[in-house]
Amino acid sequence: MTELTEMPSDMPKAYEPAKVEQKWYKLWLEKGYFTPKIDPKKKPFVIIMPPPNVTGELHIGHALTATLEDIMVRWHRMRGEPTLWLPGVDHAGIATQVVVEQMLAKEGLGRHQLGREKTQERIRQWAESRRRTITEQHQRLGASCDWSRERYTLDEGPSRAVRTAFVRLYNKGLIYRGERIINWCPRCATALSDLEVDHKDVQGNLYYVKYPLAEDKGFITVATTRPETILGDTAVAVNPKDKRFKAMVGKKVILPAVKRAIPIVADDVVDPDFGTGAVKVTPAHDPVDFDIAQRGGLPLINILNLDVTMNENAGPYVGLDRFACRKAILADLEKEGLLVKVEPYTHSVGHCHRCQTIVEPIVSKQWFVKVGPLAKPAIKAVREGRIKIIPQRFVKVYLNWMENIRDWCISRQLWWGHRIPVWYCRDCGELTVSVDEPKSCGKCGSKSIEQDADVLDTWFSSALWPHSTLGWPDDSQDLGYFYPTSVMETAYDILFFWVARMIMMGLEDTGDIPFHTVYLHGLVRDEKGEKMSKTRGNVVDPIDVLGIYGTDALRFALTGEISPGNDIKLTTPRLEGGRNFANKLWNATRFIVRSLEPEGGDLKIQKDTLSLEDRWILSRLSRTISTVTKLMQNFRFGEAQRQLHDFIWGEYCDWYVEFAKSRLNAKDTSPLPMLIYVLESSLRLLHPFMPFVTEELWQSLKQRLPSGWQKSESIMVAAYPEADKKALDPEAERVMAAIIEIIHSIRNVRAEHKVESARWIEAQVYAGELRSAIAAYSEVIQTLARARPVTFLDSREAMERESVVALVLKESEVVIPMASMVDLAAERKRLEKEIEASQNEIARLEAKLKDKAFLSKAPPAVVNKERDKLAMTRDKAQRLREQLDRFQT
Ligand SMILES: [Zn+2]
Ligand SMILES: [Zn+2]
Repeated sequence: MTELTEMPSDMPKAYEPAKVEQKWYKLWLEKGYFTPKIDPKKKPFVIIMPPPNVTGELHIGHALTATLEDIMVRWHRMRGEPTLWLPGVDHAGIATQVVVEQMLAKEGLGRHQLGREKTQERIRQWAESRRRTITEQHQRLGASCDWSRERYTLDEGPSRAVRTAFVRLYNKGLIYRGERIINWCPRCATALSDLEVDHKDVQGNLYYVKYPLAEDKGFITVATTRPETILGDTAVAVNPKDKRFKAMVGKKVILPAVKRAIPIVADDVVDPDFGTGAVKVTPAHDPVDFDIAQRGGLPLINILNLDVTMNENAGPYVGLDRFACRKAILADLEKEGLLVKVEPYTHSVGHCHRCQTIVEPIVSKQWFVKVGPLAKPAIKAVREGRIKIIPQRFVKVYLNWMENIRDWCISRQLWWGHRIPVWYCRDCGELTVSVDEPKSCGKCGSKSIEQDADVLDTWFSSALWPHSTLGWPDDSQDLGYFYPTSVMETAYDILFFWVARMIMMGLEDTGDIPFHTVYLHGLVRDEKGEKMSKTRGNVVDPIDVLGIYGTDALRFALTGEISPGNDIKLTTPRLEGGRNFANKLWNATRFIVRSLEPEGGDLKIQKDTLSLEDRWILSRLSRTISTVTKLMQNFRFGEAQRQLHDFIWGEYCDWYVEFAKSRLNAKDTSPLPMLIYVLESSLRLLHPFMPFVTEELWQSLKQRLPSGWQKSESIMVAAYPEADKKALDPEAERVMAAIIEIIHSIRNVRAEHKVESARWIEAQVYAGELRSAIAAYSEVIQTLARARPVTFLDSREAMERESVVALVLKESEVVIPMASMVDLAAERKRLEKEIEASQNEIARLEAKLKDKAFLSKAPPAVVNKERDKLAMTRDKAQRLREQLDRFQT
């Protein structure tokens, strides 16, 4: 156990995050604060953490996720709710395998050379080493998640959930195996889902190729961006309404290069305005053509091997790579006079999301989820508001995608992931689909069975995450108590990949929604607002940043300006702002600690002898608590943090502490009980945002105050402050606001006139009905504004009007005699000199603007610039003369 050592009587001068952060995290962990106590009488608050990919270290986006979730979780925990934040890691199928294959390649090894088992073992070892780093990094960010419930997608529990979900969907007819067009990445050698393909505009060519008619003379010309696919054409299609081709429908053409006869067919999908109006149909290599073929009963001819070389269907081009084949076929077409023309053409080309290789649409036998029936209840849950999406604008995005959803290809030709729970019988050909490994074929009993070689899309296990982590398919206590979870907090860019699929699978498997609220945050961008990427070299490593500024400062900077769904910029001033705020709190606490009597003194607040500023700070505290609570309930964490910052810095530290100093000096009623009370409440209010500095300061106070002052052993398990309506005191707020405004305005005038800080100036104040209330503070006003004497006047008429700066404020008026700020004679001289200089400048500019040679030669922009300069100088001279007038009288 971490024992708290006796604190020295004085606090260190400055806050050093590195010295305290690990100490407190260790204590929280050892005390078991992160693990909730199940209490059937209380409603729990639950967040399942989006599992980071096991592939790498945390990036700044993870830091934002962890910070936002930790804010919510710490807040709910302090409000007394059993709070679970369940952490986890994703095996990240394709992403992980790609990285390890690259490592193997450096050793001169290929995965097929190494074999399935050895490759898997290499990936497993590497993933294990990454996992530890991710956990450590989360801990450094202060994430208060329940590590005792940490899950990994490949753990036995989640793996059984994956197999169970698969079998259930299969038995309901919602998972099927079929020949469909899929996106094939030749580098990764696997099928990809539509979401794993990035579409990029590429500058290519549109090739116009003549296909000779089989029986008649003449040709039909088609346009294509991928001429090598001619080898797989099984028809030419035209629009049935297109008069140009009416007579040709039903006739045959001879395919160039392979000399096959194929029909001309009509299909509504053909756009008469594209190319020549006639298109080639390659059903095995194009999703649109696949549909045409399905409608028209056309055959499929696959021309590619899985390494994207041409197969035996490619005739003379067999064995060539897809792009080499393109070159060869174009040369042959040219030779035969069949290549009509070539136009430059920009078109969208699919690239593998993982490795950026151009993907090839290929017809292939894969496993699919029939998504339509799953989407229906998932659409309903959001439409009916049972699941709330923040920000609201993503509801439309979600519904639009779900209503047009296509079947989901879930099989991957990879080795890293959950193997598909299907066994094929070598004897009868039937398949056995089972959660547990079968010993024999379910149909004929043969022992000669073989498991499907493929694994599932990594997002299949992610889709089950909220219920699989809580114990599903078992009827576990956790599942019963913590499901449905409260909030799913994640980046908006995985709304479809993940959030939508969790809703579908959660409803399907458990009959209930997986979470009540989806909170989507934006991306973290650099100072210039650019996306962070390795190629740009502007990636910010959160661990580096917290080493420099401290974890709390990083958290403060990340969430300071956040609003749901919008991207944020991480800037140096913001990080510095976070660090300065921690220091400000540190200094205020240190001041209080140093003011304490060695024996403690009486720290009870005497309610009947509260001063104006006491009543004011209590009222402001109460208002801040209710505002912050409301903002937190509405997921407006950035604004809540700003309100806390403004209250603690702008009201408590800047004003209340300053007022208290003069009370301590005057040996007045001690402000210490109130100083401590408001500071301690503020620390608890701020704890969810800046957990480390608040704990350190809270413990500093606790150790130096009488035992029994605070019962909790840590701020993180202390109660979140609640607003006290009785403390609201509009009158005190009004008077204090007026006093602050007076001091503030006098300070501003001093700054404007560059009055040296050692110099005392004079002021007269007329404050109407607040006169006596404010006059009672004349001593404080004098000290804080460095104005002496400050005279309070009974009437406005009594105020001086000559040679003064007059300020009209909200509740009062202030005049400051110029003579008290500056030496009048010297100031007069200075002004006269400045006026003279301006006059000379005006004369010079006027002459220049009358000079015909200048006007005819200079460009208009230069002339305009000179005119502006003249106007500005005239204006300045005028203002200087006005100032001088005030001194003359
Ligand atoms: Zn790839
Ligand atoms: Zn069998």
